[in-house]
Formats: sequence, C-alpha cells, structure tokens
Amino acid sequence: MSLVLHVDAGPWRAHQDLVVSGHQGIVPVAKGNGYGFGLGRLAAEATRMGLDLMAVGTAEEVPALRAAVAGQPGFQGDVVVLTPWRPDDPVADQVLHDPQVITTLSRVADVAAVARAHPGARVILEVLTSMSRYGMRPDEFAEAVAAAGPLEIVGWTIHLPMIGEHLGEATDLATAALAAHRAPLWVSHLSAGDLDRFRRTFDVPVRPRIGTELWLGAHGAMRYLASVQDVHEVTAGQQVGYWQRRAGRRHHHLAVVSGGTANGVAMQAPTAAATLRQVVQTLANGAMEAGRLALSPYSAGGHKLLFAEPPHMQASLLWVPSSVHVGDELEVTMRATTATPDQVILD
Ligand SMILES: *Cc1c(COP(=O)(O)O)cnc(C)c1O
Repeated sequence: MSLVLHVDAGPWRAHQDLVVSGHQGIVPVAKGNGYGFGLGRLAAEATRMGLDLMAVGTAEEVPALRAAVAGQPGFQGDVVVLTPWRPDDPVADQVLHDPQVITTLSRVADVAAVARAHPGARVILEVLTSMSRYGMRPDEFAEAVAAAGPLEIVGWTIHLPMIGEHLGEATDLATAALAAHRAPLWVSHLSAGDLDRFRRTFDVPVRPRIGTELWLGAHGAMRYLASVQDVHEVTAGQQVGYWQRRAGRRHHHLAVVSGGTANGVAMQAPTAAATLRQVVQTLANGAMEAGRLALSPYSAGGHKLLFAEPPHMQASLLWVPSSVHVGDELEVTMRATTATPDQVILD
C-alpha cells in the first residue's frame, strides 16, 4: 500500500485534448517530477495526442521521455531542452549528437562554442525578458546569429513572467529577433488573448509552451490517496515516534499512514505571499509549529489531521479520530510540482 495518485482518465484526457486543439503549435512541457504524473506518463499522453514535439527541463530528462511506460512505446518525436546549454556539461553535450533533440542557447559565447563543436545541431536562441533569467539582449541578436553559422536555428524563445502585462515586451523582443533572423517564435506564459494578438502580429509560426494548464487544468480529475497502515491507541502523555513526543490530552489514536518526505508530503515552497490571506496563513502555521503542532496535508471526514511528528521518508504519523481504521484511504493535498506518488493509477 502506498501513496497513490488516482487520475480520472476520461476528464483528464478530454481537458488535454481541449488545450491542444485550442493552441496551434503547442509544445507540451514535461519536466521535473512530471507535474506529479511522471515524465514517462506525460510522454505517453503526448504520443496519444499525436504530438511531434515535447519540451523537457534538462538534458538529463530526455531518456525518461524515450522510455516505454505501461506497455506503451516512449515518445518518438523531437525533444526541446529548456535549460540553456553551458560548457563542460557532458550530458548536455551528449544530446547535441541526437538529431531529434533541440538545444537552447542563451549566450553568444555558447552559440559560438556549440557551432564549433557540433555543426548542424538544432538550436533555439533565448531572448532575455523582464524575468531576468536566461537570454541575450537585443543588441546581441545579430552577433548570435552570425556565431550560429553551421547551426540550424529552429526558433527564438521568449519566456515571460506569470503576472503583469507582457504583450508589448514580447512584441518588441520578437520584432528585434526576427530582424536578426526569421525563425518561429517559442513563447511561454502569454495569456490566451495576448497569444492571439501576438500570432496576428508576426508571420512566422508561434509555438506556445504549456505545462500546468495542460496537465493540471482538469481540476477534480486528480486525487492523492494514502492508506492507513496501522492505528495505535495511546494514553495521554505517552511518548511516540522517533522524537518521542508526548501525546496530548485529546490525542487517543495514532495512525501510521503511507507517504512521507520521499513522496513530497508536506513539501512547501516559500509562498509569494501575494494576498493578505496567505500572509495570515503563513503566520498561523508558524505559530502552530512553534507549539509543536503541525497541520498535515492528510484529511479524514473533510478535516485536516495533525502530524504527531515530522513526516518520515515513506510514512507519516498522525493523530486521528476514532473513526479512522486500518485500510482506510485518506485524501492528501499535494503540491503537484513536488509530488512523487508511489503509483499513478488511471481510473
Ligand atoms: C516550465 C516551463 C514552461 C511551462 O510552464 P507552466 O507554467 O507549467 O505552463 C514553459 N516555458 C519554460 C521555459 C519553462 O521552463
């Protein structure tokens, strides 16, 4: 028994099909933990939809798309590596030999180095946006194109922030890029309306890269369930767990449930604290933890349960009401980008 991601396959796939049909030239993004589904599963879905191209985060992730999963062949199409190439990375160098891999380049010096070592490689050139992450400035575009010489430039890439209005910025950058070299425009995080306007502005193909909306947009189609492995009756003051904490007066039942740090249980990212509600929530959680009480992501009967101690590698100890029994399945709230379920089951 384990921590299982149950996927309601019908609605999940119907949503994917809808997103794909609504975005001409879509580049499905599969990286990291595969948004909770695993990279192989996402590759199988892209294959199911007949897509000819996917994006991964790193060169290390390319083989995971190629591997067969659940009896289905791996992804056969082109794979774009989103993290820009850097010198002295043997894995990134290795995939440059693969004619079905497209490498991202974000510095003029790297364009020149790849052109020397791997003439004929397929690349996209990254443009620096207000993200201030990777990319070249407009005054470097012509130099980058000249340095690319023997490389096949399959596009320019523009990666925008999640919030704010960025159509103007994207349009300016694309205009400068196309003046240096005509190639398709690969964009991330333009809203649907902006994407429409962007497409109408330029007469080269536009390829929107989408992960979250594609894989996680079918709200309600995904459920994480953990099984209750054991329940122990405890007396007030009894010490339990690795940390031998004492049971509180209202804690009569200790449950051992599947799921722990290895699965990403209770993994939190620092919040952007964008709303007052998030700030208050962060403060409340901090206060609870200072009192050695921590709300777990497991729930029973619609109520979140308390951790008896921090989660273990593959199990967690929880205080539960008497209604919880061995064999029960508890709902777990997981963050999709840090969840590594033991199994993914398509129902
Ligand atoms: C991860 C990533 C995406 C996908 O982002 P979502 O918000 O999950 O759709 C798109 N573009 C780039 C460059 C990325 O790294």
